[in-house]
Amino acid sequence: MESETMIAIVKERPAPGLTLKRVPVPRELGPHDVLVKVKRASICGTDVHIYNWDAWSQERIRPPQIDGHEFTGEVVSIGGDVSTVKVGDSVVSETHIPCQKCLQCRTGKMHICKNMQILGVHRDGVFAEYVRVPEVVLWKVDPSIPLEYASIMEPFGNAIHTALVTDLTGKNVLITGAGPIGVMAVAVAKVSGAAQVIVSEIKEFRKELARKMGADVIIDPTKEDLTKKVKAMTEDNGADVLLEMSGNTTAFKQGLDSLTNGAVVSLLGVFPGELSFDINGLFTFKGLTMYGITGRKMFETWQVATQLLKNKRIDLSPVVTHILPAEKFEEGFDVMIRGISGKVILEF
Ligand code: NAD
Ligand code: ZN
Repeated sequence: MESETMIAIVKERPAPGLTLKRVPVPRELGPHDVLVKVKRASICGTDVHIYNWDAWSQERIRPPQIDGHEFTGEVVSIGGDVSTVKVGDSVVSETHIPCQKCLQCRTGKMHICKNMQILGVHRDGVFAEYVRVPEVVLWKVDPSIPLEYASIMEPFGNAIHTALVTDLTGKNVLITGAGPIGVMAVAVAKVSGAAQVIVSEIKEFRKELARKMGADVIIDPTKEDLTKKVKAMTEDNGADVLLEMSGNTTAFKQGLDSLTNGAVVSLLGVFPGELSFDINGLFTFKGLTMYGITGRKMFETWQVATQLLKNKRIDLSPVVTHILPAEKFEEGFDVMIRGISGKVILEF
């Protein structure tokens, strides 16, 4: 390390906004800690919640704390007992830090650890020149994968985890919500052999992203009847699979209504609160199967993400709409808030 301090984007006070400032480099490493030099980081919807200081973040974030969790970088030093990475390795990182001790962790389900700690939520995040993380979350990344794409492998993993709960070959797949994750799921469904990928989205910018990522049909449910349109495209059956990626109650209900009996639902979207829907008519009597998705499987999802990118099976270039120096982070949050972006990447 060249200097004792580093640039970081910090939630300084319990109030809206973030501050770019110099903070100490987290040099001290426990036996299983790794210090990573951050090369690219990307802004997630969660960072926008923290930036806006909404009710969700007021409950969880304890300022002062460095924000951010999606990133790629290079290992610069390791704790005494670290054995899975070495200095100089290119890495990406799981955001969810599992305890490795609970029932879930001990039975191959670390992604739903009972004692999960989240980078940039429960501890200092990655919007900085360096970040200290436990080795368990690191995943070596092929240096041939461009830094911009490596830095969004975490949300890309959300898309993969959600889409691949069931075989998509020859299936009619409906995706509600074409945010960055929804449009990456479009590409995952296409590469998996889906018959048709149908997207429901209300924002123009996002419809265009979905089109660029390969959606067969994009429907605006405020202008057309989603269920009718999906049925017309599927011999009056309805879609076989719903990937819910909007977190919007209306979109979710319309999505369920557009499914054929026996369909599969994969639920990633986070709703603002409790939701009520006709569970008998829209779920039980249709004989649906529903999966709740949290994070990414450690590390099956990361392996799939790596292979798809390394072998150029999926092109993420349309998703990366902004690459900005860290100093211009405000600009990045602004386009995110206005919904006129895909992924925004910050350079450190
Ligand atoms: P995003 O907010 O950028 O995208 C959501 C999209 O849904 C937007 O483009 C919006 O215009 C669209 N939308 C809103 N209402 C709609 C409606 N009625 N019909 C059709 N489309 C509608 O979010 P993102 O970053 O792409 O993430 C997708 C969702 O996944 C979010 O709800 C996010 O909170 C959630 N998420 C969950 C996990 C998890 O582990 N479960 C992880 C990451 C993100
Ligand atoms: Zn655990």
